[in-house]
Amino acid sequence: MSLTYYIKTNQMKNKTNYHTHSNFSDGSAEPEEYITEAIRQGFNSLGFSEHSVLPFENTFALQPGTETAYIAEIRRLQQIYLGQVQILLALEADYIPGVCAGFAGLKSSLGLDYIIGSVHLVKNNHNDILWFIDGPRRETYDNGLNEFFGGDIRKGVTAYWHQLNQMIENETFDIIGHLDKIKMHNQGRWFSEEEGWYLDLVNETIALIADHSLIVEVNTSSRVNTSSGNSGKRTSGLP
Ligand SMILES: [Zn+2]
Repeated sequence: MSLTYYIKTNQMKNKTNYHTHSNFSDGSAEPEEYITEAIRQGFNSLGFSEHSVLPFENTFALQPGTETAYIAEIRRLQQIYLGQVQILLALEADYIPGVCAGFAGLKSSLGLDYIIGSVHLVKNNHNDILWFIDGPRRETYDNGLNEFFGGDIRKGVTAYWHQLNQMIENETFDIIGHLDKIKMHNQGRWFSEEEGWYLDLVNETIALIADHSLIVEVNTSSRVNTSSGNSGKRTSGLP
């Protein structure tokens, strides 16, 4: 059954979340705690989407060798809570050209219900160091932009949207993750999200998403206050 089917059949009575990280990656609790809370809040569907294993040291993704335990645990819980809440098994796969790809292979070899395709680490043209645009700290975003793109916001943001386009054209996946990542840390500081050059980038990606019939995740991260004090004003969960 496809994810589109799950979403369509659930949409009239919908209380669902398909982007969940437990402590198998960078979430804060055991998967079962998310499930019991979802049941308490009347959710009918909950999808786990740990960050896929990356070929370099990091603190946020599944660690190499833990995939099997993750899959076994989610499938076990699926059986235990059968009839109470629908549990789905997924990964949030990172697209970094030349570093990690092959989403379709990941989905079939691990028997996943779906894949979220996301860009958290943006490549520049000069070296292999990646700009980390996620995480709660605005300083990480600002310092990376200064260091890898010479503080040229237009260059950095363009690289992000172009990397997304490349992912859409080269990979097979179900959901495109958090298109509000740039907005989350920008919050009108580096540029206005209504400037023509930015809207052109967003619109180009949205056209590609439509061509590939992808599901667009509405993520609320850009509405949540960060440690640096985002106001969360003028944000919608979309770019
Ligand atoms: Zn993500």
